[in-house]
Amino acid sequence: MSIANNLKNIKKEIDSLSVALIAVSKTKPNADILEAYQAGQRIFGENQVQELSQKHNTLPKDIEWHLIGHLQSNKVKYIAPFISLIHSVDSLKLLKEINKEGAKNKRKINCLLQIYIADEDTKYGLGFDEAIELLSHPDYQQMQHIRIVGLMGIATNTDKQSQLKEEFYELKTFFKGIKQSFFKNDAGFKEISMGMSADYKLAIEQGSTMVRIGSHIFGNRDYKPE
Ligand SMILES: *Cc1c(COP(=O)(O)O)cnc(C)c1O
Repeated sequence: MSIANNLKNIKKEIDSLSVALIAVSKTKPNADILEAYQAGQRIFGENQVQELSQKHNTLPKDIEWHLIGHLQSNKVKYIAPFISLIHSVDSLKLLKEINKEGAKNKRKINCLLQIYIADEDTKYGLGFDEAIELLSHPDYQQMQHIRIVGLMGIATNTDKQSQLKEEFYELKTFFKGIKQSFFKNDAGFKEISMGMSADYKLAIEQGSTMVRIGSHIFGNRDYKPE
């Protein structure tokens, strides 16, 4: 199957549900991204700042770039001028840095809080309590150059459907509580980024608004992502 065909098949499944498709192009060459671009895809996700910056510099300017991987504070400056959405905010310190760089670039940078939902200790993310603490912090309330538009989660790497379903359900439920407590009058807080190649259908059933799909579009990657 070609990249264009893979995309077409996924779009057929999700378009009527108004779920956004992030094509995860990490480790893939520009030629592959252009193939997807020519098939109409405009949103791409990368997990490393250097690779993302290089691709941003060399590919069409109307691509919306999303950072989906762990972000170190000292690298925010490289992506702040152009990034459309950072999915992986996992500390107040990082959010402060994004706000600072947003100010320098005279923009408001869209962010998701990455919430820890997996039954593994290798993944980044905020616990439920930590997310609430962050949103309650006076420093957060002062920030003028970031906009939190939702939550992101990565489920456990397992085939167990019941466990995946449970984890997605937990994130959706937490989202509802956070919406009610902190973003009641903010229509912009509406995104739940959950679901990857292996589990996006289940994630959508549980309320995902953004799926991040890599190998199902571009084929397997040569090396394992972090
Ligand atoms: C790599 C990656 C994806 C895409 O994974 P696939 O299984 O190839 O669809 C999604 N989200 C994050 C955070 C990733 O790092």
